Amino acid sequence: MNCRIVPSICSYCGTGCGVLFLVVDGRLMGTLPMKTHPVNEGKLCIKGWNLHEYVNSFIRLKSPLLKKDGRFRKCTWEEAIGFTADRLRSIVREHGPDSVGVLVSAKMSNEENYLAQKFARVVIGTNNVDHCARL
Ligand code: SF4
Repeated sequence: MNCRIVPSICSYCGTGCGVLFLVVDGRLMGTLPMKTHPVNEGKLCIKGWNLHEYVNSFIRLKSPLLKKDGRFRKCTWEEAIGFTADRLRSIVREHGPDSVGVLVSAKMSNEENYLAQKFARVVIGTNNVDHCARL
């Protein structure tokens, strides 16, 4: 059994509590409070304690969906990314980068949210970025 502790930041709200993820055989199994973090000093609210649960939720989408003729169908990541890149490229070309906004989620990791805002600012060229946990 391969067991690792991975430090991170809770993404559920703007407080930014330090957490430790328990990863067993590559699978996220639990969240613990980071005792040495200056924000939360070993404490978490109920949302933070359950931070890992949505990752393994049975209702989580496991593959991308494309909507065609009013219906969603499963597609490959290559198809979804290619379609999205083509659409974003044509929207930016026609209407400029500020015609695009990037909305991220507390149900992504802090690191994924960081990458999403970098994508908005550096690749698209807009500061139109928002997050549901903004306080
Ligand atoms: S949701 Fe709770 S644990 Fe997460 S950052 Fe906010 S106060 Fe901390």
